[in-house]
Amino acid sequence: MPHVSHSPDSMFERVCQRFDEAARFAPDYPPGLLEQIKACNAVLHVQFPVRLPDGSIRVVEGYRAQHSHHRLPCKGGIRYSPNVTREEVMGLAALMTYKCAVVDVPFGGAKGGICLDSRHEPAEVVERATRRYTAELAAKNFIGPGIDVPAPDYGSGEREMAWIADTYRALNPTQLDAYACVTGKPLSLHGIQGRREATGLGVFYGLAEALDDPGEMRRLGLTTGIDGKRVIIQGFGNVGYHAAKFLREAGAVIVSVSTHEGAVLDPQGLDVEDVHRYVLETGSLRGYPAPQWYSDPAAALVEPCDILIPAAIEEQITADNAPRIQARIVAEAANDPTTPEAERILLGRGVFVIPDIYLNAGGVTVSYFEWLKNLSHVSFDRMSRRYQENANAKVIEAIEALTESRLSDEQRARLTRGPDEIDFVQAALADTMVQAYRAIYRTWRERGLPSLRTAAFLIAIEKVATDYLTLGIFP
Ligand code: GLU
Repeated sequence: MPHVSHSPDSMFERVCQRFDEAARFAPDYPPGLLEQIKACNAVLHVQFPVRLPDGSIRVVEGYRAQHSHHRLPCKGGIRYSPNVTREEVMGLAALMTYKCAVVDVPFGGAKGGICLDSRHEPAEVVERATRRYTAELAAKNFIGPGIDVPAPDYGSGEREMAWIADTYRALNPTQLDAYACVTGKPLSLHGIQGRREATGLGVFYGLAEALDDPGEMRRLGLTTGIDGKRVIIQGFGNVGYHAAKFLREAGAVIVSVSTHEGAVLDPQGLDVEDVHRYVLETGSLRGYPAPQWYSDPAAALVEPCDILIPAAIEEQITADNAPRIQARIVAEAANDPTTPEAERILLGRGVFVIPDIYLNAGGVTVSYFEWLKNLSHVSFDRMSRRYQENANAKVIEAIEALTESRLSDEQRARLTRGPDEIDFVQAALADTMVQAYRAIYRTWRERGLPSLRTAAFLIAIEKVATDYLTLGIFP
């Protein structure tokens, strides 16, 4: 795991600080409403026994924080890490509430944690812990399609989500919507195409939209567009790898990627797929033949680039390294990677910071689509693909008749093709990221706010407050 130099505040306190900064600009609400929005509604702490391969028993700790119930279900991932704390999951759950509001995903925020190193523990231990944790959540009514829906986060993925879905279903054998109890599931177990790469692709769409603004890019001393931009990425897990992949495909030069073990750097640009293959094959980034290797991954953050993408964990950009960061744009793919003090330094130096609660919302956005698919028991393409193909064919026939020409079979097939599930998912994700960016940017500019983050928080606060007031759930 990358180094975390803990600031005096816990993650939950940091999120609250950011909330308070934005709340200064909020309209006058009834007394107590902002305090209620900010508070973490419920935290479950469980401890349970897990049998190890040698027959001994280990007591494993787990948490699930439900930050807000203004919309249901609550939604958010489960982090697997020996360092998980109560305050951390509370802070991450709060970020989920604001993130969902920013991208209009109709959920409250939640987050879970299991104190286990899922990368190094044997799979059977991770499986037993995951299934038992799910049973604990079920026993306390902390999981269910309309209650609280977990997803992957740091240290978890499709494998863990499959165990959760299977355990929940075994406990609720007659529940029609049981598979909607968790998202990020494998495709074979009612997952959705495009969920795996969703967060990284959302980062790409968000960055592409930001870089499309000639005025803002001029102010930063950059040209518009992704093409040719020099990018440093911290973290090469699911989010970091996919962000790197999509950016490179659009012409960006990926100067450096890193894992907890160290960073590789090539000023000419890394071959992202080659690095990825190497990491999959050897289980490590160490030894990859790049011109430079840093055993301290943080050292690469301050190398020359246009865009720095923290895509690992919290508190990576601090007051210590912020003055030396050379990027003109910091794009937060991780949750809470920049401390408030570091952000003040970056903003003072004219760096453009694209905040986590907007930029990494692609994951939960596609989770929302997966949940909808599970509830409707049909995939999005099934009801419309053939109809769309027929409609496209009619338009082509009409154009051919008018122009008295004929398309080749290959051209016709390309133009008539109806949408697959992945096409719907990617188009809806792109639209979500573009619309949300425009709303945040407009709010930032029109209301003269200190940062894009403040604008994103303010938008979230106003949406959640409106829900409380209009739904009559505020006494
Ligand atoms: N763990 C991801 C996040 O931090 C995804 C959450 C979800 O899909 O519910 O946004």
